[in-house]
Amino acid sequence: MSRLVVVSNRIAPVGEGGPPQGGLAVGVLEALREQGGVWLGWSGKIVETVPDKPRFRTFGNITVVELDLTQAEYDTYYLGYANGTLWPAFHYRLDLMEFSRPNLVGYQAVNKRFAKALEGLLRPGDRVWVHDYHLIPLATELRALDIQLKLGFFLHTPFPAAQVLLGVPWHRDLVEHLATYDVVGFQTERDVAGLRDYLMVENHGTIDQEGNGEAFGRKFVAKAFPISIETAGLVRQAADMENSPQVKRLRAAMRGRRLIIGVDRLDYSKGLVRRIQAVERLFEAHPQFRSAVSFMQIAPPTRGELHQYRNIRQELEQHSGRINGKYADYDWMPIRYISRSYSRRTLAGFYRASAIGLVTPLIDGMNLVAKEYVACQDPEDPGVLVLSCFAGAARELDGALMVNPYDFEAVGDTVAGALQMTLGERRERHKTLMDRLKRWDITAWRKAFEAALAAV
Ligand code: UDP
Repeated sequence: MSRLVVVSNRIAPVGEGGPPQGGLAVGVLEALREQGGVWLGWSGKIVETVPDKPRFRTFGNITVVELDLTQAEYDTYYLGYANGTLWPAFHYRLDLMEFSRPNLVGYQAVNKRFAKALEGLLRPGDRVWVHDYHLIPLATELRALDIQLKLGFFLHTPFPAAQVLLGVPWHRDLVEHLATYDVVGFQTERDVAGLRDYLMVENHGTIDQEGNGEAFGRKFVAKAFPISIETAGLVRQAADMENSPQVKRLRAAMRGRRLIIGVDRLDYSKGLVRRIQAVERLFEAHPQFRSAVSFMQIAPPTRGELHQYRNIRQELEQHSGRINGKYADYDWMPIRYISRSYSRRTLAGFYRASAIGLVTPLIDGMNLVAKEYVACQDPEDPGVLVLSCFAGAARELDGALMVNPYDFEAVGDTVAGALQMTLGERRERHKTLMDRLKRWDITAWRKAFEAALAAV
């Protein structure tokens, strides 16, 4: 049987016990367990000199192959180009984008090294599934090694509009690398349209409405495969967590008040400052909710080595402090800002205990938190999802209250409306959302991608 070979920057902890965390990990592990295969990626280790050979570990029918990075590779490939150039550009922040030739060279070199490591592992009939913006050139490097296997790629971030992509130096190369895959998967039609427009504007090729692409003398398929969650498992987990010590403590701390929850990696794409301003608007313009509702923002820091990330936490703490100073009472705190992370299990309980899920990124590939929040609700008494129209998830979750995150006053007013929504409307919206999440879960996602790759 043909094997699945997965390549991503990081590898999920395959054999380390406990359930896998995150859409990529759950979906990919399920596929690998079903068919057997290989998962290759960075070990997370930074070493003085990289070993001649990658490390292999076997867990049943899955082989994990780990590569280390040198400090220079980490600085140029990971921090420099992937997270300093591509991440901001793909999230429409050319103002935060940094570019240097050494970073680009480092990015290309690590992709070449990943390809070299794969070369020795691949067998006839294997299907290769590459993930995310760290590894866009991998197909080109594999083809240069004369590997003729089917190559698929999935981009977890947004793919920007043509005008934004044109601001990225070497954009043509990036797109040519993408077109070297047989299947290029995006989160939404918006992202497919970005690539289609770019090819048209730059006169490089076309993608028809069925997703058949032709560019740079190659044929490929470019389609939307919105990533999802393990819906059934999460529904069970949230119900189990209802009486957990963590949720009991949270409820006790809330003392009968209702909770608005936000959960995000600390990232400039998540719209956190405007979200806090929306909460301020809620308390300012709708005083009946003072002392009756609190907002809890969980925002674990990431990528702290990058200066673009350094000021966000300070800014958020300032805003929350100011609003708490303005409205707090001796027995009520309007905003709880928490900068640590929680397990997905604990979050499942927290989501269920929250009347509103406030998910307002300025742009997001998908936003799994939005889907998780919905799946974790009690169907008899569900909370309301307030969702940015710029999250990829907005394309599917039309039972949510949709907002423009830039208009923080309207967001605050929408939250006020959500807090007053009737039980009947809440149930109806929740049912619409759950119907989608049951039909299109993480298994449906990866099966659709695999089918597209098998069909080329
Ligand atoms: N998450 C978590 N613990 C935390 C905060 C977040 O496990 O303290 C998880 C969250 O449940 C979600 C993922 O991290 O599955 C974030 O994915 P999302 O698509 O929302 O955003 P991303 O971080 O990929 O931009």
